[in-house]
Amino acid sequence: MTDQLNNRIEKFTATGRLLAVWGTGAAGKGDGQFDTPHAVAVDGWGNVYVADTHNNRIQKLSPAGRFLARWGANGGDGTAGLGNGEFNDPRGIAVDERLRAAENVWAIGDVSGVALFTHVGKYQARVAAADVAGRPAKADYRAIPAGIFTDPEVATVGRTEGDGLVSARWELTATPRLSTYERPKRDGFVRVFADPAERVLVGAVAVGPQAAEWLGQLTLAVRSATPVDVLLDTIQPYPTFSEAIFFALRELADALP
Ligand SMILES: Cc1cc2nc3c(=O)[nH]c(=O)nc-3n(C[C@H](O)[C@H](O)[C@H](O)COP(=O)(O)OP(=O)(O)OC[C@H]3O[C@@H](n4cnc5c(N)ncnc54)[C@H](O)[C@@H]3O)c2cc1C
Repeated sequence: MTDQLNNRIEKFTATGRLLAVWGTGAAGKGDGQFDTPHAVAVDGWGNVYVADTHNNRIQKLSPAGRFLARWGANGGDGTAGLGNGEFNDPRGIAVDERLRAAENVWAIGDVSGVALFTHVGKYQARVAAADVAGRPAKADYRAIPAGIFTDPEVATVGRTEGDGLVSARWELTATPRLSTYERPKRDGFVRVFADPAERVLVGAVAVGPQAAEWLGQLTLAVRSATPVDVLLDTIQPYPTFSEAIFFALRELADALP
């Protein structure tokens, strides 16, 4: 899998044991180095193909991680190109909002390079199937949730950085739910992000027990562009982690102009 922020490729066994790490960690243009690697494909011989996004090239590595070849403008030296076999920010197979890659060809999942999650592939499958069947469908990626199943569990959705976003945070220790839940070993919080001009929620981060579960209502809020005032007027059950969402939203409403 790609470790984009660390500019590395990590190889795991089927049971998730780390086998190898390729790349230097720092962004580099050398052979076998990467700058924001995106999609990875493996051929029948175990060779690995990496979309080396910001180097505008594809690199081919042997099953043991030895550099074999690079493709792109000027032999893959990092220059962007628009010609056949050249790349400009390659991320996978280019698809449109209906997942069409070409006439009567659809591409879904990791190869589309949109977001490398099972649930995104499944969503894209539904959109592509509707399009194949002649029903109107367009992929909307505003609210892609992601869960990291560590302790504490971490979950995010939507935009959590960018110019002008207003955010507010609430610690889980300040919610009554912790009195009824088996007390977590580590602290958690919820942070919500809003577009001040539209006064709608655009993103959220949740950290704590089963965070990927209770992030759900925030995913719906981001996807449906629900006004912050409507979210604030929503009754949350007591005692739940969802109450932390209400408290964070209350702080957010105060911070919004
Ligand atoms: C360690 C790990 C943990 C992950 N955890 C999560 C998680 O918790 N939640 C989540 O949402 N996502 C997770 N992901 C990401 C998730 O696994 C992928 O996003 C998802 O599997 C993508 O589905 P896909 O069908 O696009 O591709 P894949 O599941 O990779 O399926 C592609 C298939 O094509 C086959 N194939 C490849 N080349 C060829 C070829 N030349 N000919 C024929 N067949 C070929 C492959 O063998 C494979 O079976 C994790 C990924 C990894 C590596």
